[in-house]
Amino acid sequence: MNLFDLSGKVAIVTGGNGGIGLGMARGMARAGASIAVAARNAVKNAAAVAELDPLGAGRCIAVEVDITDSASISSMVEAVVRQLGGINILVNNAGTNIRQRPEALAEADWHTVINTNLSSAFLCSKACYPSLQAAGGGKVMNNGSMLSIFGSPWGPAYAASKGGMVQLTKSLATAWAADNIQVNCFLPGWIDTELTQRARQDVDGLHDHVLKRTPAERWGHIDDFQGIAVFLASAASDFVTGAAIPIDGGFSVNI
Ligand code: NDP
Repeated sequence: MNLFDLSGKVAIVTGGNGGIGLGMARGMARAGASIAVAARNAVKNAAAVAELDPLGAGRCIAVEVDITDSASISSMVEAVVRQLGGINILVNNAGTNIRQRPEALAEADWHTVINTNLSSAFLCSKACYPSLQAAGGGKVMNNGSMLSIFGSPWGPAYAASKGGMVQLTKSLATAWAADNIQVNCFLPGWIDTELTQRARQDVDGLHDHVLKRTPAERWGHIDDFQGIAVFLASAASDFVTGAAIPIDGGFSVNI
């Protein structure tokens, strides 16, 4: 038995059209899974599907979804079940940040970040639960952050949302263990994506700070997430649930 084989499994990856989500989708596609790339931008979705489809034996499809909208999430789940036959794996990866100090953060911006990063994970997990249960079990992965652990003067809503992801993970893990559904959170360090390319432009010295603080002495690459995705999606992690696993080149253990 290949513990890491994902043949016949169906994975939804929110935000799978770029960045960390695309890296995770690559790993799972290579391990044999069918992938639903779920995000708003149809052009980016199509490009990701074209890249992912040849990687493995599974089928890859694009689903346009706004994860801040529960009706859109219901349509996503319905489309995936209709086209791919069920759901075995959900990656709650999509997210955003609005960099602002707490005293200046607009109420609407607080809600945008919380809804996009945290409420979406609850809504997508809840919407997928009947399919995971019907499949006899499944896997949910939630994307946290170093700001699941640390605070930042520039990211009150982001840190609150990512801290919340860890607690949501633990609650889902305890609630759904009896259904053979494992729920885990992974905490990326500093990864080179569109999100952080913007941060690097906005924050003086960020690039050098990351290199200095990260024992691996480099930024993470989206392909660094292929392995954790396959592990947390596969039978290899069947006794791992409720965990929060840093994928950070050692950032979180360095003083
Ligand atoms: P990207 O900007 O590359 O990815 C963000 C993804 O989220 C895009 O695919 C985007 O697709 C999707 N998305 C955003 N809003 C919505 C929405 N309302 N509905 C559906 N999809 C949406 O950045 P990253 O890959 O860096 O970020 C992915 C996750 O990783 C986020 O949760 C982020 O917080 C987290 N993270 C990133 C770190 C890093 O260093 N890069 C560090 C720690 C955590 P589209 O615009 O087409 O909808």
